[in-house]
Amino acid sequence: MGFELKILGANSAIPTATRNTTSQLISINQSHYLIDCGEGTQIQMRKYRVKMQRIKTIFISHLHGDHFFGLIGLLNTMHLLGRQNELSIFCPPGLREIINLQLKVADSRLNFEIKFEELEFNNGQNHIYSDNIADVYTIPLDHRIPCNGFLFVEKPKNRRIKKELIDKLKIPIEQLPKIKEGADFHREDGRVFQNEEITLPPRKSYSYAFCSDTRYNDRIVPFIENVDLLYHEATFTEAFRERAQQTYHSTARDAATIAEKAKVGKLIIGHYSARYKNFDQHLEEAREVFANTELALDGHTFSSRDL
Ligand SMILES: [Zn+2]
Repeated sequence: MGFELKILGANSAIPTATRNTTSQLISINQSHYLIDCGEGTQIQMRKYRVKMQRIKTIFISHLHGDHFFGLIGLLNTMHLLGRQNELSIFCPPGLREIINLQLKVADSRLNFEIKFEELEFNNGQNHIYSDNIADVYTIPLDHRIPCNGFLFVEKPKNRRIKKELIDKLKIPIEQLPKIKEGADFHREDGRVFQNEEITLPPRKSYSYAFCSDTRYNDRIVPFIENVDLLYHEATFTEAFRERAQQTYHSTARDAATIAEKAKVGKLIIGHYSARYKNFDQHLEEAREVFANTELALDGHTFSSRDL
C-alpha cells in the first residue's frame, strides 16, 4: 500500500445531512494519521470503514469546534473497544485541559495513555514529528485564532533489488537489507556487483500539505513548495470575497493562487460554507487559476495513483 488520503469531512462550521465537519485520514504504508476531528468523525470512520484503533497519531490544527469537537467521543470509543496502545495528539495548548476536564467530570479513565504534544505558534515552520515512515512539519496559517497546517513528507524509500538476480547471483538473504540501502554486493568468490547494476531506483516518496483554516497569505508558499498534494481551505466563492477576509477564510481562487505559486502537483479544496448546495462554482473559479484542482468530498480518497 502506498500513500492515501481519505476525506472524512469537508464542510465548515455546520454539518449537513451529507457533509461532515473537518477530518482527514492519511495512510502511508500502513501507518495511519488523523488530521482534525470535527464532531461525528467517529461515525464517518464507521461509514467509510476506517479501522480507528490503527491510528497512531492525531494532529489538531486549531481549537475551533468544527476541527476538534469529535475528539472526546473518538477517544471514548477507542477505550471501550479495548485500545491499549499509546496515542499521541499534536495540538494547540488548551486541548489537554479540555479533554482531561471532560474525562474528570465523567469520572472516566482511559485504558491507554494520551501523549499531548502542545505546539508553538510562530511565523516559521517547525519539525514536530518523525517515525520510520514520515516527517511532519507545521505550516503557519493566518486565522482568527492560532492555527497550524501540517506538512507530511514521506521518508525516502529503499532501492529495489532486481528479483531475478537474487537466485542468479546467489545473493544471501542476510545481505538484502544492506543492498536495499545502497551497498554493493561482495560475493564470496571475490566478485563485486555495483549497487546500480543489481537494484532499481526507489519508488517515489510523496508529500502532502494540509492547510486548514486560513485567509489568503502567500507567506506559506515557501513552506509547501512542490508538494505532490495540497489541501487548502476554500470556504467561499468570489461572490463572498469580503466575507472571506472578515472571517479569516479563503475563496476557491485564493486556494488556487497558493497552489499555483507553490507549484504543487494537485490541489484539493474544501471546508465549504454550509450556504452552498453544490461546489461547481468553487471548482470553476479554482480551475481558472490552477487546472489540476479537485473537490474534497466526504468519503473520497486520493491515492498515489491519482498523483
Ligand atoms: Zn477555524
